Amino acid sequence: MMTTRFTLDAREIRQQFPFFQPHPEMRNLIYLDNAATTQKPYAVIEAVSNFWAYHNANVHRGGHGVGAKASELYEAARGRVARFINARETAEIVFTRGTTESINLVASSWGETFVQPGDELIVTEMEHHANLLPWMRLAEKRGARLVVWHITDSGTLELDQLRKLLSERTRLVAVSHISNVLGVINPVAEICRMAHEAGALCLVDAAQSIAHMPVDVQAIDCDFLAFSGHKAYGPTGIGVLYAKRALLEEMPPYHVGGGMVQTVRWDRLRWAEPPAKFEAGTPPIGEAVGLHAALDFIDSIGREAIAAYEHELTEYALARLQEVPGLRLYGPREGRTGIFAFTLEDIHPHDIATVLDSRDIAVRAGLHCAHPLSERLGGPTARASLAIYNDTDHIDALIDALHYTRKVFGYAG
Ligand code: PMP
Repeated sequence: MMTTRFTLDAREIRQQFPFFQPHPEMRNLIYLDNAATTQKPYAVIEAVSNFWAYHNANVHRGGHGVGAKASELYEAARGRVARFINARETAEIVFTRGTTESINLVASSWGETFVQPGDELIVTEMEHHANLLPWMRLAEKRGARLVVWHITDSGTLELDQLRKLLSERTRLVAVSHISNVLGVINPVAEICRMAHEAGALCLVDAAQSIAHMPVDVQAIDCDFLAFSGHKAYGPTGIGVLYAKRALLEEMPPYHVGGGMVQTVRWDRLRWAEPPAKFEAGTPPIGEAVGLHAALDFIDSIGREAIAAYEHELTEYALARLQEVPGLRLYGPREGRTGIFAFTLEDIHPHDIATVLDSRDIAVRAGLHCAHPLSERLGGPTARASLAIYNDTDHIDALIDALHYTRKVFGYAG
């Protein structure tokens, strides 16, 4: 077994999560399904609970103090997100229900306004459906062409390939920062630069990167960036769309209703300024407060430190996974994070997940909402994915359980 000195004590970090504490209703679970959603620290649960208990009111409406306080907390969360991703201004942060809604917003609002018949939209073969179906539907609606940027056999994207696909007809390149199946980190800054040179915009799906590495929208120079709170130790029901101010100015509203207008007359509508223009109806207020606490939690550890630790753990896992006979791991060896899609002999991935669950290890199995990619890989896979509270004991338990799974299905030694 490898002996490595690790830069963080995950056991200490687990102390901050009720999910990992002894409780009559809890199994002592090894949670390796973090790409699906992360567990929540006490700090997030308490922030949300405090909001509902003591500060609940609607925002930007009430003529009373509690409403002003709720608005202040909601807007403070927006400011926190802006600082977290280094946006130029808070107006560039639109709260949504999650990554899926953020990308649908762009496809509907920007896409249906600015994409013309004959235009091209480039998507990669590794996209999650959230960053694929909105563009497929937009292409269909607008008579545009969806252009697929295929991956290499090792599961990476080649920039030379993108160079060939870009043309004066390209309006948008949509790419995930980290693939939820292959774990590969894509060179999004370079991709955005190339898209811009071709006169196109670039949207980055940061659902899998936001909690695992520094994400700086100015350094990436993306036009749009989307992520979900629940994959970053925060609540479900809250997500973020970052967009450059100039784009938000020219985009029409996505939903219409309360809170997003300046003037409503029978003969005239004037929308509010961004971001309010894109936040019709009562927003997810308590969830935004929870997201604020989640980002504070992440920064209390430090994103560089998280990336370094998860990299060490990834290297450890990669080495140990190789010990399991008949295990096929997808994605590249280098330039990747702790998302491990694999098959084991010819055992169905759902069966792998079931056996692992019987050993109190939670992984996901299936097509991972990325059907075209899964088809390219040859079908469903099992997937183990890491977060900051995982450690080598968890990897060791996974490896033991995979050996056990082979035995259960009659594979020798
Ligand atoms: N993109 C990627 C890369 C994802 O992994 C996910 C969630 N699995 C999503 C988008 C969608 O996120 P949500 O369901 O929170 O909208």
